[in-house]
Amino acid sequence: MTSVLSKFGQQMSHLTGVRAIMKDIIETLQSEQSADFINLSAGNPVILPEVEQLWRECTADLLASSDYGEVVCRYGSSRGYEPLIDAIAADFNHRYGLNLTAKNILITPGSQSLYFLAANSLGGYTPDGALKQIVLPLSPDYTGYGGVSLYPEAVRAYRPTLEVNESAHRFKYRPDFSQLTITEQTGFVLFSRPCNPTGNVLTDNEVNRITSLAADVPVFIDSAYAPPFPALNFTEMSPVLTPNVVHCISLSKAGLPGERVGIAIGDVATIQVLESFQTNLCIHSSRYGQAIAARAIASGALAEIAKTVIRPHYQQKFAVIEATLDEAMPNVPWYLHQAEGSIFAWLWLQDLPTDDQAFYQALKRYGVIIVPGSPFFPGLRDDWAHKHQCFRISLTDTPERIAIAIRRLAKLTDEVYGQTTKAV
Ligand code: PLP
Repeated sequence: MTSVLSKFGQQMSHLTGVRAIMKDIIETLQSEQSADFINLSAGNPVILPEVEQLWRECTADLLASSDYGEVVCRYGSSRGYEPLIDAIAADFNHRYGLNLTAKNILITPGSQSLYFLAANSLGGYTPDGALKQIVLPLSPDYTGYGGVSLYPEAVRAYRPTLEVNESAHRFKYRPDFSQLTITEQTGFVLFSRPCNPTGNVLTDNEVNRITSLAADVPVFIDSAYAPPFPALNFTEMSPVLTPNVVHCISLSKAGLPGERVGIAIGDVATIQVLESFQTNLCIHSSRYGQAIAARAIASGALAEIAKTVIRPHYQQKFAVIEATLDEAMPNVPWYLHQAEGSIFAWLWLQDLPTDDQAFYQALKRYGVIIVPGSPFFPGLRDDWAHKHQCFRISLTDTPERIAIAIRRLAKLTDEVYGQTTKAV
């Protein structure tokens, strides 16, 4: 059957950003040589035994409790499961000296849906036809932001400045405050901290500058990798929770991606707008995941396991990537982004003689899959060569296989730049 799709239907039936590449990756992995591939493209977290055990124990506790029927056999509040909201409020109030109440908190089915709610209630066209922009202050950023607005023209990203340490082969992005513009035409500001794909953590000072520039405009800080859970920060950082900030949490990288739990913490009026939109869209988030999360957060177990198990797991793998690149890369201008958090490494091959898509295809012939960087610049309309010179490398395979893959990448880099190099 072929239906005539609406404008929104056409737009939403296409995959955006990295999801389009993922289709190619899935087909590659289903091919005959699939077993030989080292797949460093995954965004899915590793199933860590201690984390899985925590969720099993919380499930056993839920099954044994009188609350079980209330959780799975009944509808609940569209704001979210009350014991989870109470656990978040208590945890954040205690940890950061806040005075949050239930009215400041909304639970959504994963954090991606939270950005959809925000993008289409705070961004897009106002009744008098003005376009409210969704401002991404530092590009590259999370590829999923490219598909959240029903009006893609609303997403506007800014090119960063680059701090490069040539001899160390490291670099870091900084927001370019000379360009960044936030006005009454801005619907809201959005960025991830730590950042997927780069691992960048904007400093407190940079975040405070952005929130001051924004004044009355909401600033959504995507904290999918931030402390207190999953605590995938490798550098000191604490959440910035000023009045115009909506702090957005995901439990996916804390081991619960299948349960789709996202959490927004913000001012009462903004939370109310998002809640109403959510009620219209899906009534509320699934309650089983919320109920086990409530137990893991209230007991403190999730924050503890994040620090002692989740963070070290990925940090150790980042060290393997760093050491192998340092040892194996040829003498070309390659730069690894500073490892400040997330479950990814971000590699920039400056002056790459080919582009990121062609390099990705060539590396597949070496049995390695990484993600070409160009889909990670949603909303950046500048013609910038840098967009086609970067790659996201996931920290989800074993250290041994990561090291083999990086050596193969170094060999291809050597070939592509056409230079002789150290043996690999
Ligand atoms: N934000 C960032 C920065 C992410 O990396 C991801 C997922 O990878 C998401 C949001 C979406 O996460 P969720 O599973 O909570 O929808």
